[in-house]
Amino acid sequence: MLQELVGAGALGAAGAFGAYWYLKFRDVLPKESALRASQKALADFTTFTRETMERAYAPEQPEHYGDITNYYLIKLHKAFPDSSILLFEKGAGQWRLVNYLKHFKAEPKLLTSYKWSALDRSSAEGELLRFDDVRAGDYAGMEELFSIFGVRSALMCPFRPAAGAPERLILFGAQSPALFDAAHPYLRFVASQLSSISKVSDKLFSLKKEADQLKSEVNAVVKELDVAGSRLIQRAKERKALYEVVTKAAGPDKDAQSGCSSILNIVAKMMEADVVATLLFDESKNELVVSPGAYGISDEDRMLYSIPVSNQASASVRTFLSRKPFITEDAQDDPDVLTRYAKLWEIHSLMIVPISLHDRIIGVMRVGSRRKDFFTPDQLEFLSIIADELAIIIEMFTLYENLSRTAQELGQLNKMKDEFLATVSHELKTPLTTIKGFVSVILSGEVGPLNEQQTNFLNVTDQSVNRLTSLITNLLDLSRLGGKVEMELGRVDLAELVRVSVSTMLLKAKEGSVDLRNEAPRGLPQVNADTRWISQVIDNLVINAIKYAGKGAQVKVTGVEKGEVVVVCVEDNGPGIPAEEQKLVFDKFYRGRTSVNQVPGTGLGLAISKSVVEKHGGKIWLESKPGKGCKFCFALPVAKTPKEG
Ligand code: ADP
Repeated sequence: MLQELVGAGALGAAGAFGAYWYLKFRDVLPKESALRASQKALADFTTFTRETMERAYAPEQPEHYGDITNYYLIKLHKAFPDSSILLFEKGAGQWRLVNYLKHFKAEPKLLTSYKWSALDRSSAEGELLRFDDVRAGDYAGMEELFSIFGVRSALMCPFRPAAGAPERLILFGAQSPALFDAAHPYLRFVASQLSSISKVSDKLFSLKKEADQLKSEVNAVVKELDVAGSRLIQRAKERKALYEVVTKAAGPDKDAQSGCSSILNIVAKMMEADVVATLLFDESKNELVVSPGAYGISDEDRMLYSIPVSNQASASVRTFLSRKPFITEDAQDDPDVLTRYAKLWEIHSLMIVPISLHDRIIGVMRVGSRRKDFFTPDQLEFLSIIADELAIIIEMFTLYENLSRTAQELGQLNKMKDEFLATVSHELKTPLTTIKGFVSVILSGEVGPLNEQQTNFLNVTDQSVNRLTSLITNLLDLSRLGGKVEMELGRVDLAELVRVSVSTMLLKAKEGSVDLRNEAPRGLPQVNADTRWISQVIDNLVINAIKYAGKGAQVKVTGVEKGEVVVVCVEDNGPGIPAEEQKLVFDKFYRGRTSVNQVPGTGLGLAISKSVVEKHGGKIWLESKPGKGCKFCFALPVAKTPKEG
């Protein structure tokens, strides 16, 4: 019984042991090994992702994207050495093989295009597509490729790189689908990594592109600023030059030569030119002639330089005729230029602009440099502006020169006239004195008795001699006053001069039945005057009043102190002077319209009086209302120092 029991117990233990091992082998062991396997797979995958991510970087150049793709594919292939990894890219409806990894039988051709609907499907769905046996699907066109790589099963993983970039697809091929489950996460990981990297890179590229674009824009702006800056400097230089030119025109140089020469110097400095010359048109010779004061040309050379306006081969002549500016890079090698002068002055670059004043062209300006291709169109434009200024200046100088010449000639003529008058008057006066002397002797009866007719004739002769003498005296006076006659100034009492003049004229007034009165008060302030000349002025005015006021008229002479001056007036109640003649009576040789034939005179008395008064620093004027007489007045400044005694 016990034995049975022991036996039964032993049998039971053995059964339990067996059951344990049975169960262990059947359930636990496979699970344990599966657990270990999946732990290893997890560890491998973690290592794979860590390693690849550590090496991952965002490429800065699009071409580097290929390198990083290769790196991922190599890593993938290393993880699954028995697989064939093919990378496709879609373009124009076809898939091009862009990379592969595997030992292959024959080298496949990269960039060959393939068309397999499974590739399109995978790409359209954006999902992994699995073919355990590619032959089960229609893979026409892929046979050769699959055969090269020994692909029987395929796992396709599409991915889309950055927007706009072509779609890509990794084909994970193998002899059998055994690896597919394991490869799944790897493929997904690689595809998503490559797609993210592409997107990040794309952003980077576009940022970089933007940055480059901005950089080049900034560079362009900086360059533009540079150009604008140097333009501004150029403009400032031009303004300065223009300012200098205009100042020269208004400056002290009053002859054309030094004025133009200063301007040509400014132009030479401004343009950094070696030769600057103006060629002005000489009408008498019909030639363009270099004017004096040219820059960089000796006077001797200048004399050799003139071009007939008929010579159309000359660029200067053409500019002169057409008024169009001309510019050449090399005057010595330009068929449009007379090279003779360019060679003579060793000029290469040349600009020619017209010098015109309004519609009239007066010449051209030539600016040359020894350097080739030296001048710019901007400079040509500026030169044209200077030429316009120059035209005005040349014109101004020419006018000034002409005026000075005329003034000089007039001065000369005036001097000759004065000398002539003085000589002739003197020569005339001497015989007249003789005639007058003999006439008065004959009239006195000392040399025998005269009949009435003889007496009349001799009286007329005497009067004529008087008139002639007075004309000559007036002419002499006028000539002296026009010259440099000095007034012999002294302290003079005008009231006294008036008194003397009136008393001398009383007889004459009486003869003409004129009531002549002196109303100038005594005690007027003294004036600085030349007694002889001022007495002559008072006499002239009194004689005129007696002459023109006519019989029965009243003439009064007044004197008054008015502030700084003493005013003397001769007033009559004769016919007066018409308004239109009043401004003319002080002109030389002017005689009133009514006076000419009725009253003898020379038309010089008032002109002499005006000249005398003005030489004293005084003024003479006339107040007259026709029919109501005349009032001639003159004012002389009161003498400054106090009275003597
Ligand atoms: P003249 O007396 O020799 O003609 P004047 O120069 O003295 O030359 O005078 C110029 C003119 O002025 C005279 O011809 C006359 O017409 C006019 N004139 C001068 N004084 C008077 C006056 N008191 N009344 C009217 N006319 C006068």
